[in-house]
Amino acid sequence: MAHVSIERLRKTYGSFTAVKDLDLEVRQGELIALLGPSGCGKTTTLRIVAGFITATSGRVAFDGRNVTALPSHKRNCGMVFQNYALFPHLDVFHNVAYGLEMRRVPPSEIKARVGEALARVHLSEFGSRYPRQLSGGQQQRVALARAIVIKPAVLLLDEPLSNLDAKLRVSVRNEIRSLQQEAGLTTIFVTHDQEEAVSIADRLVVMNKGTVEQIGGPREIYDHPRTRFVADFIGRCNLLEGRREGSSFVTASGTRFAVSVPDQVSQAVTALAIRPERIKCATADDPGPNKLQGTIETVSFIGPYTEFSVRTADGPILVHLPSHDRTDSELFAAGQTVTLAIRPEACRLL
Ligand code: ATP
Repeated sequence: MAHVSIERLRKTYGSFTAVKDLDLEVRQGELIALLGPSGCGKTTTLRIVAGFITATSGRVAFDGRNVTALPSHKRNCGMVFQNYALFPHLDVFHNVAYGLEMRRVPPSEIKARVGEALARVHLSEFGSRYPRQLSGGQQQRVALARAIVIKPAVLLLDEPLSNLDAKLRVSVRNEIRSLQQEAGLTTIFVTHDQEEAVSIADRLVVMNKGTVEQIGGPREIYDHPRTRFVADFIGRCNLLEGRREGSSFVTASGTRFAVSVPDQVSQAVTALAIRPERIKCATADDPGPNKLQGTIETVSFIGPYTEFSVRTADGPILVHLPSHDRTDSELFAAGQTVTLAIRPEACRLL
């Protein structure tokens, strides 16, 4: 398995820059998720690593070896695409065997390695079926077997779960993760689905308009987003405009929040980010800082939590309260006045 280094990678199409001087290190055996909205440059980056697209400038290296000018078939990357891309005229065995045949691996070894790869994706019994005789989830597992059978230097997955229904997405996702961990595969996983990325990756790379907004572990990115874009893109977030005054944040409408200020936060703060699940409902006379009066506008039962949109002097605030805490009749209702309480540690300065 290779360590992948991407240095100052740039791709332009005419006057449009799809990837802007992107730097990224993917450690050996690590699963990195490239995450971002449509058109932010994820697929372009992945395809440059695979060798399907030539970069305008920059460098890609596997284990320190510069592969930037190497054709894709010499890079030894395993690829899985959204649309499976299996050969319809080949059965499962020969779909998986294809890459080994191209590499002129002896037939007896091909048989053993394909058998092992199919066993890994729980499809040992399906070798003689054709792609049209398989479900979407099974086809994607064949594609996965085909990618891993060549013992790739890097496994590249481009939205591999997007064509599957919600339940199957979770089970194939878990399969990919355990297979990747067992084999210690260095993996780059492209997705626009933040829940998918958070649940599968060792580290997330949040991209926006061809650049990296933030790189970090899922928990770090969720709890400590560095930019408004990241706070808003990963999970739900309330963003209040305003300015910092010492260890307070004062909103545009004059509400003062006590915040805990980490050392690295500069004075150039323009927003306060608060996750909806970090807000509690209190009584007006409860002790503690950061009380905000508001009126409930909408109530949506989501399942594990109930979402309230509360109109305050600082605009609408989303609040998520665990549903199991109260029965329906005990829950707040639209039109009711509530006092929101927000602990200083829940306030993130941006
Ligand atoms: P999605 O999630 O929709 O696949 P993405 O983040 O993978 O999005 P890319 O496919 O990498 O995005 O595309 C990045 C940008 O580059 C887009 O704005 C796209 O329109 C543009 N782009 C991609 N390929 C070309 C091309 N061959 N010519 C011109 N522009 C292109």
